[in-house]
Amino acid sequence: MSLLLVDNLKTNFHIDAGKVQAVRGVSFHVNKGESIGIVGESGSGKSVTMLSIMGLLPDNANIEVAGMSFNGIDMEMMDYKQWRRLHGREIGMIFQDPMTSLNPLLTIGHQIMEPMRIHLKLSKKDAKKRAIEMLKLVDIPSPENRINQYPHELSGGMRQRVMIAIAISCNPKLLIADEPTTALDVTIQAQILDLMSDLKKKINTSIVMITHDLGVIASMCSRVIVMYGGIIVEEGTIREVFYNPQHPYTWGLIRSIPKVEMGERKKLIPIPGTPPDLLAPPKGCPFAARCEYAMKVCEMIPPRNTVISNTHQAACWLMHPKAPKVDKGVIG
Ligand code: SF4
Ligand code: MG
Repeated sequence: MSLLLVDNLKTNFHIDAGKVQAVRGVSFHVNKGESIGIVGESGSGKSVTMLSIMGLLPDNANIEVAGMSFNGIDMEMMDYKQWRRLHGREIGMIFQDPMTSLNPLLTIGHQIMEPMRIHLKLSKKDAKKRAIEMLKLVDIPSPENRINQYPHELSGGMRQRVMIAIAISCNPKLLIADEPTTALDVTIQAQILDLMSDLKKKINTSIVMITHDLGVIASMCSRVIVMYGGIIVEEGTIREVFYNPQHPYTWGLIRSIPKVEMGERKKLIPIPGTPPDLLAPPKGCPFAARCEYAMKVCEMIPPRNTVISNTHQAACWLMHPKAPKVDKGVIG
């Protein structure tokens, strides 16, 4: 059964220059216990999609959705209490920069204990006990001392571990991680990703991992959603998207994954060109300006989703039966 179901989400931001159409009709689901990845460049709409679901957008944002449910409950029909419970307890979120997400004036212990006291109604003593357990779970050494420290006394990697401890402390059904390792250096990134894979086995939670790195998704998720220009351009299981990718943007992403045998992970090699201006999104395929296979039709008419299997679909005119056959030149 689906834990999270989103049908035709559109998110716009109203700014002086006009309307930025950041998310332009996105539909997807997350099953119970499943980990999915959302991949795309900055500005593809991946973070805005999840922030829309969390209700964490600024005042100039406007959301339209055909349907959105969590654990079988229509999210639009939730009263304030249900909404608070959903976002405080049932969905945990980990952001990119742990320094800005933690309060510099409060101890680590206070910040882990507070949500547990509110949502799990734990006494101070029990919350403290569980805070120490949580810090142990995320491999923070001597947690009994750490809980009395302030964020600036911890390294970036340790702070991100604390953020993860806070996010999982109320046993969320869904954990959303938005580029959780981007602000950290390479060795620490690997440690945090290992920790997350490890936690996935220990706690029974669904995970949505937002990243610009397809390699991260391959090691953690069972399914992947590829976003570009505010829409989903391809979606499938890891096997389908890595071994039988259908969209030229996905081909570019796969080509840019650093080869593991070359040793240390290198930075992603970007696909040439820039993403579309979402103040005036292209009429046809959003990738047309950067796509080496673009045809006339691509600029005029948005490609429809083509279903490849129960789990795999992509939106590209190349999948039309009359389209020319092209060499994907992806794997190798
Ligand atoms: Fe390229 Fe056309 Fe496919 Fe868009 S629809 S990805 S422009 S071939
Ligand atoms: Mg982002």
